[in-house]
Amino acid sequence: MRVRFAPSPTGFLHIGNARTAIINYLLAKSNNWKFILRIEDTDRERSTRESEQSILNDLSWLGIVWDEGPDKGGSYGPYRQSERFDIYREYTERLLEENNAYHCYCTPDEIETVRKKVEAENKPYECVNRCGEIGDDDKKKFELDGRKPAVRFRVSRGELITVKDYIKGNITFNSDNIGGDFIIVRSDGYPIYNYIVVLDDILMKVSHVIRGEDHLSNTPKQVLIHRALGIPVPEYAHHPLILGPDRAKLSKRHGITSVELYRKEGYLPEALVNYMALLGWATEDGAEILTFDEIVRQIDLKNIGKSASVFDFQKLRWMNGIYIRNYPVDSLVELFLPYITEAGFDPLAVEERHLKSIITAVRGSCEVLSDIKKVIGIFLSELNEPDEEADKMLKEDYSREIIILTEKLFSGSRINGENFIEGIITMIKEGTELKGKKLFMPVRAMLTGRLKGPEMDAAIPLIGFEKLRKRVEYCFNTYCRQ
Ligand code: GLU
Repeated sequence: MRVRFAPSPTGFLHIGNARTAIINYLLAKSNNWKFILRIEDTDRERSTRESEQSILNDLSWLGIVWDEGPDKGGSYGPYRQSERFDIYREYTERLLEENNAYHCYCTPDEIETVRKKVEAENKPYECVNRCGEIGDDDKKKFELDGRKPAVRFRVSRGELITVKDYIKGNITFNSDNIGGDFIIVRSDGYPIYNYIVVLDDILMKVSHVIRGEDHLSNTPKQVLIHRALGIPVPEYAHHPLILGPDRAKLSKRHGITSVELYRKEGYLPEALVNYMALLGWATEDGAEILTFDEIVRQIDLKNIGKSASVFDFQKLRWMNGIYIRNYPVDSLVELFLPYITEAGFDPLAVEERHLKSIITAVRGSCEVLSDIKKVIGIFLSELNEPDEEADKMLKEDYSREIIILTEKLFSGSRINGENFIEGIITMIKEGTELKGKKLFMPVRAMLTGRLKGPEMDAAIPLIGFEKLRKRVEYCFNTYCRQ
């Protein structure tokens, strides 16, 4: 069996399309099917090689490995539609010869005039077969006028088309309601998606077409082409689309929608795949954190849900945090490096073991890798000057009491390079009546410049005595001198 993912390279890889790719890939792995990558680049104005490359990169980043594709070849290539025009031409000739298609000489203006007229009468537009029966003389006349014909597929009247769909069940369309004879090759010679998708699925021996339900309305046309060619249809499965929290189709205004931006934000591919597998599919025991192999073992086309799934940005973030917490620390250090650089530090200037300990201490406060930018300064900056929240807290009287006390402990060497790790918190605690939040938050603000961050017990040794001393002195000078 063979499945395919067939992106159009007209922009970045959208999260909805990535999900289609992931479902296809997981099912391929689960059933031992082949996974084919086909580039549908016949939209001449919008398709670019850069977009194709970025889609390939994003798919690879997600961990998807295709068996056949434009960069890899395979027995059924080429895998870019723009390189297959000669193949399509043969089929077009055949459809024309067998009278399943005809040349249409209508100009776009003529079609537009008819469309406007029909729509003004509140009827749906469909091609009225104006050119379907014209004779050779008329054709010659048109051609002498310089008109280039498009090729239209002849849609029979009143034919019932039942699409058997794994997810949606049986859906029956009437051929009278699919817009009439439709163009399969434009007058400039460019074939249309709805047509060549069928040819390629046939020629690439695709057994299961698994794609978003936005393609469902195209399916009856595709079935008719199969019928005209006398070739059985593949198995279809149209999965529901992803919706935003307001139940409208997921779009930029809801949040990040491109895989590339998820990568840049510091999501881990494993978490994205896990989250997206669970959109519209659930394990029997309700487990949510699953490795790729666990998903592959359990996923089944029969259990993909029928109803649309709402993309829960918070949940994905939460899930990513769990992945960060459980990731092998060595690999995690590597993944964090670019974000540490972005925060303005040179991670290579930090001793490797020290960096590893810092990452171990902070990974729990990072839901995405870029979150490290907010906390890394706690360890690597000399002062890490208090941010707005910390500043506000440090101005409070109870905070000042703590700063004055700590400054005394440092300047009198009661806290020193030898004992600061065990002693600092205990000695501050002993020296004041303050308790709970009023004690711990100012201590955190004074020593780290932030109200949030890693456990103080883990942070203190990693910040080191000298930096702590400087920070206490800074706070004393800033908040406690009149
Ligand atoms: N090229 C189409 C798209 O990007 C997919 C075609 C299909 O899956 O049939 O939406």
